[in-house]
Amino acid sequence: MKTIEATQISSAVAELAVNACCQLPGDMLAGFKDAKDKEPSPVGRDILDQLIKNAEIASAENMPICQDTGMAVVFVELGQDVHITGGDFEQAIHEGVRKGYVNGYLRKSMVAEPLFERTNTKDNTPAIIHIRIVPGDEMRIRLAPKGAGSENKSVLKMLVPADGIEGVCKVVLDCVQTAGPNSCPPMVIGVGIGGTMEMAAMCAKRAAARDLDSSNPDKRYAAFEDELLEMVNNTGVGPQGLGGECTALKVHVEWHPTHIASLPVAVNINCHAARHAEIVL
Ligand code: SF4
Repeated sequence: MKTIEATQISSAVAELAVNACCQLPGDMLAGFKDAKDKEPSPVGRDILDQLIKNAEIASAENMPICQDTGMAVVFVELGQDVHITGGDFEQAIHEGVRKGYVNGYLRKSMVAEPLFERTNTKDNTPAIIHIRIVPGDEMRIRLAPKGAGSENKSVLKMLVPADGIEGVCKVVLDCVQTAGPNSCPPMVIGVGIGGTMEMAAMCAKRAAARDLDSSNPDKRYAAFEDELLEMVNNTGVGPQGLGGECTALKVHVEWHPTHIASLPVAVNINCHAARHAEIVL
């Protein structure tokens, strides 16, 4: 049994918030460089070059990669042998987000209620928290800030088994083409297949937050990720929607067992600022 203080969690989350918003992960930077070498469109290459420079300046000056520092989406893998003391676990995460966004001068984008008054909470809380209880005595926290431009283009479709692979491809392609420049491509696309409505959405969200250089461990789904990427990049949307081949850097698929009569599909788009930072306590 490991004991973790609530204050340790808050401090770690505060640090993750600033790092995630200001330091583009190495996998994304490598993805930009690789895409630039392959991109046939001169405008597309120029945009990828600007994205690389932007990420380098943000890193050197500890400034946000994008003005939209997003909702703080926090994935926690909580070992069942961890004992949290000194405070409420979820409040510790919210406190970390508050500290990170306020002290790090990151834009505050959360409204307290979505429909009527939409008052800004002024500290970017609450965080969006997803928790999984796993074996072990570690706590893995991954913070992936999510801007609205790309989040707003997400879709969920309740297909039926007869729609098959073709139906899934159509959902992904329609989503990408509708999103176009508004999701700030090149994108990282998360696709969730199976489960219930909410499980498909969760799979898509986890897929979009995966490391860029990861593949689905199931070879059939890994091959499907490559197939979808090729289709997406044949749309011609290109970097920032100005034409070219690099519409997406990667398509990630996560799946879940489902009902005999169901084939839910969710697509969660991440923009070129596909930010994430992780710590293990
Ligand atoms: S979609 Fe991404 S890159 Fe575009 S404004 Fe939002 S956070 Fe920034």
